[in-house]
Amino acid sequence: MNTQELDKKYVLPTYARVDIEFVSGDNAILVDANGKKYIDFTSGIGVVSVGHANKRVNSAITKQISKITHISNLYYIAPQVKAAQKIVQTSGYDMKCFFGNSGAEANEGAIKIARKWGESNAEIKKYKIITLQQSFHGRTITTVKATGQEAMHNYFGPFPDGFVYADDILSVESLLDDHTCAVMIELVQGEGGVEPLDKQEVQNLALLLKSRGILLIVDEVQTGGYRTGKFLASNIYEIEPDIITLAKGIGGGVPIGVVMSSLKDVLSAGDHGSTFGGNYLSTTAACEVIDILNEYSQSGELENTIKYFNQELENFYKNNERLFTKKVGIGMMCGLRVKDADTLSAIILNAKENGVIVLKAARDTLRFLPPLTITKEEIDEGFKNLELSVSSL
Ligand SMILES: *Cc1c(COP(=O)(O)O)cnc(C)c1O
Repeated sequence: MNTQELDKKYVLPTYARVDIEFVSGDNAILVDANGKKYIDFTSGIGVVSVGHANKRVNSAITKQISKITHISNLYYIAPQVKAAQKIVQTSGYDMKCFFGNSGAEANEGAIKIARKWGESNAEIKKYKIITLQQSFHGRTITTVKATGQEAMHNYFGPFPDGFVYADDILSVESLLDDHTCAVMIELVQGEGGVEPLDKQEVQNLALLLKSRGILLIVDEVQTGGYRTGKFLASNIYEIEPDIITLAKGIGGGVPIGVVMSSLKDVLSAGDHGSTFGGNYLSTTAACEVIDILNEYSQSGELENTIKYFNQELENFYKNNERLFTKKVGIGMMCGLRVKDADTLSAIILNAKENGVIVLKAARDTLRFLPPLTITKEEIDEGFKNLELSVSSL
């Protein structure tokens, strides 16, 4: 049986898979089982931030795992503390980290910190967490409930209590009450349509929450790790969240999740944990990814790449205004609003045929999350293939 047949026989059908099997990659180039080449404008949903088969990451992790891969969090782990130090120092915030294995798990950690803080610091128990409509915070029972999308709450109940959804950032204030412990937001909603929140509105919310003694949690699972141009989107919005979560782009493809917080003493030994979280493999990968991206940012190359990619995207948008209504996003987290859902499906399908892979977000957004290290040549090739893909539409 081939891969597709084996998948159908042995893997639970939770994904509507695209009919491609990739076998290798090099930066933003992918090769499938038939030897066909593609330009990757997705980086595996914002994960392979330093490109496929990155030599530095591969060399760092193979060196590490030839010595030790895992021993559990009962012992000190050198690359874990180095990764924590790099993350904290690069962020510019006075925080400490906890390591898990995914974005959802990082958000679970954030919710646990907020809930324990809410129980310890008030006369009445504070437990309510406000999130936004169209948000996405993960697939565990709790983070599915934290996600402000009704369609995701159809099954799986009963859910944990205490999640309330605000229509938008301005309506958060009217939902705050004595039981509210935190507000959790993405600064750029990824799955929700690549729509950045308004900076002034976010800053006003941050001030309001501080004055009311309510925590601000920023879910940077997708935006973190230089995706928006700075290490954190919180840096661009110039806010000081109490809790930040990271995952996708931080491990270069090795599973990792991070919750970082300025509330350094809320959790104590035994309150939280993870078997795999922060092991030698994932944190060695994270250290190397962060080093690479710090250098890439400091040299100005990241900014040049962002400028070039956005200029080419703008050209593509202008050339095809019959199909699109708006360009959205920040940095290397971009999208084009497509006039209707059928056209969007057609573009994605044609793009695959023409050797460029792109993503969909919400109902009507063509989404771009290329590797941050994508070259000019790869960008040119990708947009050339995209132009071919829309020429008949
Ligand atoms: C992807 C994503 C998650 C979930 O991450 P997993 O690693 O799939 O659990 C949570 N929040 C945001 C903003 C995301 O983009």
